Amino acid sequence: MKTVLVYSGGLDSTVLLYHLLSEGDEVLALTFDYGQRHRREVNSAAYICCLDRGVEWKLADITSLRPLLSKGAQTDHSLPVPEGHYSEEGMKATVSPARNLIMLSIATGVAVAQGYNRVAYAAHAGDHAIYPDCRPGFVEAMGYVMAEGTYEEIDLWAPFTWKAKADIVKLGVELAVPFHLTWSCYAGRDLPCGRCGTCVERLEAFDLTHTTDPLTYEDREFWRTAVEAKK
Ligand SMILES: [Zn+2]
Repeated sequence: MKTVLVYSGGLDSTVLLYHLLSEGDEVLALTFDYGQRHRREVNSAAYICCLDRGVEWKLADITSLRPLLSKGAQTDHSLPVPEGHYSEEGMKATVSPARNLIMLSIATGVAVAQGYNRVAYAAHAGDHAIYPDCRPGFVEAMGYVMAEGTYEEIDLWAPFTWKAKADIVKLGVELAVPFHLTWSCYAGRDLPCGRCGTCVERLEAFDLTHTTDPLTYEDREFWRTAVEAKK
């Protein structure tokens, strides 16, 4: 298969990248700069794609849309990044309006233009609570739209839709994913904060798989408190 991967440089999409490569796919990794606070994930994406795995990396710069789409803690830098468990109601502050809908639409156009036959993204079960455009109903509907909306009947592939984050970490360990090069934190400082939703979710997932996240965190223990508070 020839696959355009919506690629953030984070843990989930990097595991999906390595999964696609292990299946023999030809991969174009498409990273979006949408003015996110945690822009350093873009650097992670670029770096990982330079690791001589035969991945073509492209950057889609959509920063000019930020003034129109600025809503939520990822793109409105005046808002604080909420701390706590990923599935909490307060994490809705991290929703960027229709982000995956927009990215998948652009990725579909890129697939057609560059001669690829499917688009993949790494939505997973833990995203369902907060992000509508990661849910199974969205994946099914979007897949239909992408196939109907292109002569090439571009496929949408989201193999992690029903996987928990811990299952993705486990798969990543099997595939020797360079977790130390990935970036997940929403806070966008020099070190991952360990307190935002995505840091908490990531540290919890590593713990559940009895492996250690190789990243150095500002606060490596807060996630336990957040997970307890959620129970
Ligand atoms: Zn963080």
